[in-house]
Amino acid sequence: MSDAPQHAPHGFAVQDNCLLVGGIPLPQLADRVGQTPFYAYDRALVSERVAHLRKHLPDAVHLHYAIKANPMPALVQHLAGLVDGFDLASGGELSVALDTTMSPQHISMAGPGKSDAELRRAAAAGITVNIESADELRRLVAASEQLGYRPRVAVRVNPDFELKTAGMKMGGGPKQFGIDAEQVPDVLKDINTMDVDFQGLHIYSGSQNLKVEAIQEAQEKTLELALRLLEHSDTPASTINIGGGFGIPYFPGEAPLDIAPVGERLGELIEQATSQLGDTAVVLELGRYMVGEAGIYVCRVIERKLSRGDVFLVTDGGLHHHLAASGNFGQVIRKNYPVAIGNKMSADKLENASVVGPLCTPLDLLGNKMPLPNAEAGDLVVVFQSGAYGVTASPTRFLSHPLPAETLC
Ligand SMILES: *Cc1c(COP(=O)(O)O)cnc(C)c1O
Repeated sequence: MSDAPQHAPHGFAVQDNCLLVGGIPLPQLADRVGQTPFYAYDRALVSERVAHLRKHLPDAVHLHYAIKANPMPALVQHLAGLVDGFDLASGGELSVALDTTMSPQHISMAGPGKSDAELRRAAAAGITVNIESADELRRLVAASEQLGYRPRVAVRVNPDFELKTAGMKMGGGPKQFGIDAEQVPDVLKDINTMDVDFQGLHIYSGSQNLKVEAIQEAQEKTLELALRLLEHSDTPASTINIGGGFGIPYFPGEAPLDIAPVGERLGELIEQATSQLGDTAVVLELGRYMVGEAGIYVCRVIERKLSRGDVFLVTDGGLHHHLAASGNFGQVIRKNYPVAIGNKMSADKLENASVVGPLCTPLDLLGNKMPLPNAEAGDLVVVFQSGAYGVTASPTRFLSHPLPAETLC
C-alpha cells in the first residue's frame, strides 16, 4: 500500500472524480468514441502549448510541427492554423500535410532513404526537400527535370558536434542523417551551378532534451555552423532550421523544460547574428513538445486479477498500441509513464497494482506496481504523456488485436 498522490499532469482538469478531456468527462468520452482502447488529444492543450512557445521564443523564430510525432489528420489540421510550417519524413506524412490548409511552401521533408517516388511527389507538391546526401540531390534534380518542376532544396547537415545530453542523438559523428558538415561546402558549390530553388540548411542534433543549458549550447553551435557553411552559397538562404529536441517529462524526478531561458538566449543569438542573417528566418521544428502532453491513451480494465498477493489490472490495451509506455521504445531501464484511473481520480485510498495488456508476453506492461485507486472490471485506465509517438510508434499487428480509435476534442 502507498499513499503517494495520483499523478494528475498539468493541464487536465478533474470533475466529480472523472478526468476531463476537452471538457468532456472520460466515461462520456469513451461512450462517444464507442470503443476502448483509444487515444484522445485535447485541442485546447495543444493551442495553449503553441501559445506558450510563442510567448517565450523570439518573434523572429518560425515554429514548425514535426508530423512524425503524431500524424493524426485532424490534429495536424488543427496545428496548421497555429504553426508556421510542417516538417515531415515520408510520403505518407506528405499526404497528411497536403490535405491540410498549410501552404506547401512552408512544408519540408527530411529523412534518409527518400525513394524516387517520394522525391517526385515532393517536387510536384512544391515542398522543400532537405537532402541527406549528394546522391539524393542528384536523384531529386533528375526527377524534377524529367517532370518539369524546379525543386526546392535545402541541405541537411550532420553537424561536427554532438549534443551532450539529448535522449536520442541524431547528429554528430558518423550518422545516416544529413551530409557531414565538412562535405557541405562542396555540395553548396554544386548547388550554386544547378537550376534549383535553394532554401537553406537543416541541422537536427537530437530529441527529448530536458536540459536548458544543453539546448542553449546546441542552438548556439548550430547557428554558428549554419552561418559558417552558408558562406559557400551564392544564394542567400531563406531559412536555417536549427532543429528542436525540446523534451517533455515522462518519469518521476523529471522536471518540465523551462522555455523562458531558452527563448532568451536564442533571442540574443539571433540579435548578435542580425547582419549575417539578413532576411534568413530561423526555424525551430518540434514534435513531442507540441503534442505529447496533450494526449492520453485510454483502455478498460477487463479483469482484476490477484497472483500471489500482487494485483494485476488486465486491460484491453497494451504495448501493441503504446510501445513507448511499455518501456520498449528506446528505454534502457523500464520506468512507469504516469498512469491514473480516469473515473476514480479523487480516490484517496491507493494500492499497488500493475497494469498489463492482453498480449501473451511479459513485455506487455503499461504500469509496474504503481500506486493506484482500487480498480475493477469496467474502470478506465489512463496513460498520460501519450500525445506523441503513440499508436504510430507501436507494433499494432502484434497479436492481431484491433487498432485503437483516435479522437481530438
Ligand atoms: C523526429 C524528428 C523531429 C521531432 O522530434 P521530437 O522529439 O518529437 O520533437 C524533428 N525533426 C526531425 C528531423 C526528426 O527526425
